[in-house]
Amino acid sequence: MKKKISFIIPCYNEEKNIDLISESIHLVMSKLNFSYEIIFIDDGSKDSTFDVLNEKSLIDKSLKFISFSRNFGKDSALKAGFDYANCDAAITIDADLQHPPELITELISEWENGYQVVYAYREKNNPHVNIFNKLSSKIFWLFLKKISSLELEVGVSDYRIIDKKVVAVLKELNEIEIFYRGIIKWVGFKQKGIPYTPDERINGNTSYSKKALFKLAIQGITSFSTKPLYLAMFLGMGLSAIAIVFFIFYVTYSLYFDQSISGWASVITTIVFFGGLNLIVLGIVGMYIGKLFMQSKGRPNYLISSTNYK
Ligand code: UDP
Ligand code: MG
Repeated sequence: MKKKISFIIPCYNEEKNIDLISESIHLVMSKLNFSYEIIFIDDGSKDSTFDVLNEKSLIDKSLKFISFSRNFGKDSALKAGFDYANCDAAITIDADLQHPPELITELISEWENGYQVVYAYREKNNPHVNIFNKLSSKIFWLFLKKISSLELEVGVSDYRIIDKKVVAVLKELNEIEIFYRGIIKWVGFKQKGIPYTPDERINGNTSYSKKALFKLAIQGITSFSTKPLYLAMFLGMGLSAIAIVFFIFYVTYSLYFDQSISGWASVITTIVFFGGLNLIVLGIVGMYIGKLFMQSKGRPNYLISSTNYK
């Protein structure tokens, strides 16, 4: 029996890319001896992505689609893919052809060599990204690596092959705001990274604004580390120590020189400064409580409005 690969492709407004990505997958797979299915997850697209998928699936029997009731985000789309995939290995890939399909052959052959997760990470000299994005992405990954104690590569992508054993583990995880680029490292197993240079997006626009990326970064960090919560304690201890030193200094000063220190400005600045600090730390605590709150409601990561998956 041939081994089966499931391709998992999250789509948000990708009407023009469905044909391209599925044809390039067919092309690569026609040279290999595997059976396969392509699962498109329509993440509440506002364009005609759903109609394109629906029509195409009538002709192309390997094409499956799962359509969400609204936009739930890329990681939720990936989750739906893992939940439904029934395969020997799953490959997650973007719909916009930024993940070069030629790499599929290499991913599969490394998987056959015994690696249970083979992921692609962006090479340093990415030609299509401006300096600001490059820098902020680098800072994010280094920071996340530092505080999560995970061996993360800078620029790791959602382009990877995952063995069915690991897919089974992923199916079990019921985390809200799941962040697969971190989770994949967290699960362990035998892993290997291969570098790649992303291509330019073919059609449509990236759906991530600066604000969305910032939110994703915070999500990634708060799902993998509770260290920011300790920030309050260390800041508090440091600042109290400074305050004590100042207090001693002022008391001694006024005793010896017999004059009180004027300066309302400095008092006000200090109050505002500590007020600000309090709010920052409360905010951090609030983020984690928010997570607990969302998780405790036990809502699903996504809702399906239509699918041809049986
Ligand atoms: N995507 C999705 N839901 C979203 C946003 C994006 O399913 O809410 C999909 C999108 O269709 C694409 C992939 O995730 O296949 C990567 O998105 P995009 O190209 O916008 O991100 P970038 O490559 O800029 O990081
Ligand atoms: Mg993209």
